[in-house]
Amino acid sequence: MQTLNLKTEPTHPDPSVCARAGELLRAGKLVAIPTETVYGLAGSALDENAVRAIFAAKGRPQDNPLIVHLAAPDWLPRYAAEIPDAAHQLVDAFWPGPLTIVLPKREMLASAVSAGLSTVGFRCPSHPVAQAVIEAAGIPLAAPSANRSGSPSPTTAAHVLADLDGRIDAIVDAGTCAVGVESTVVALHGNVPHILRPGGITPAQLKAVLGAVEIDPAVLEGLSDHAKAASPGMKYKHYAPKAKVIILKGTLDTFIDYTRAHTANGTFALCFDGEQTRIGLPCVTYGKADDSAAQARELFAALRAVDEQGAQVVYARCPAETDMGLAVYNRLLRAAGFSVIKLY
Ligand code: AMP
Ligand code: MG
Repeated sequence: MQTLNLKTEPTHPDPSVCARAGELLRAGKLVAIPTETVYGLAGSALDENAVRAIFAAKGRPQDNPLIVHLAAPDWLPRYAAEIPDAAHQLVDAFWPGPLTIVLPKREMLASAVSAGLSTVGFRCPSHPVAQAVIEAAGIPLAAPSANRSGSPSPTTAAHVLADLDGRIDAIVDAGTCAVGVESTVVALHGNVPHILRPGGITPAQLKAVLGAVEIDPAVLEGLSDHAKAASPGMKYKHYAPKAKVIILKGTLDTFIDYTRAHTANGTFALCFDGEQTRIGLPCVTYGKADDSAAQARELFAALRAVDEQGAQVVYARCPAETDMGLAVYNRLLRAAGFSVIKLY
């Protein structure tokens, strides 16, 4: 299959590009689209075959549900069977934006979207191109991240093509994604809202609207493949480069001492901006130490860059777990297969 490459400005979506993408999506084809978080691999959420094709193109495990993307908040009642007050509050505060809300689904959504669950994650992206493509398609779009399952998520069209060129019908290229990590996934059943996956909306932002929120234990801990995960996607090894990643928790000084004593051919450092001059290893950086939004923007590209540069083992500086840092740490932990060494 030849992947059609469509290009548009990010802020002024080209109407002919969006119309073409919308036509392909209505016809059951797969189109990678830019969102404010990462590129998504979109297909009709109403078409069982299109949804199955998404799983096949990504090599995604069948039990990992997809997020359904809507053009505007007022589409939600068409596809969600129940919308509790808390969901209305979240929609008002954060949509369009990087927040996915898990709600009971209506029958017309393809059953493969939710991987057998009775709920679906809904999101309304803020990226003008994502909105324009969904609007042009006129249907809700199932869209997981547009990477081969297990690899770092794509924040540029080049990342998408590196993984999926020839496996999908088209890509809409609108440059680099602004947030860089995926949406925050929130579930509202139970007494207290639960963060199933940290992302572009921080726990503090959610607390400001909902009062209390709990962070699911799977966010910071490994689950065995057999454990029942509230968010099935959290149980898989994820976001991982081919190189082995090991997170070193500690200061820059202890990082330097440790890596000096543990250097072999192909050992790299994944560090913060400005630290390269002190670290005696080839370095790939991912934002400033005190800027978790920059870390979020740059992490996935950095995880791809270490492979491109031939790293075998990558020692990673550990991000702060506050604000957007929780999402950054969650992704890095999975990229490292939970290998963490405490240097204190
Ligand atoms: P991705 O689209 O690749 O960014 O992954 C979607 C994430 O949302 C995965 O971690 C899923 O497990 C999670 N998710 C989607 N739908 C649901 C749902 N109905 N219940 C719980 N988690 C969900
Ligand atoms: Mg993904």
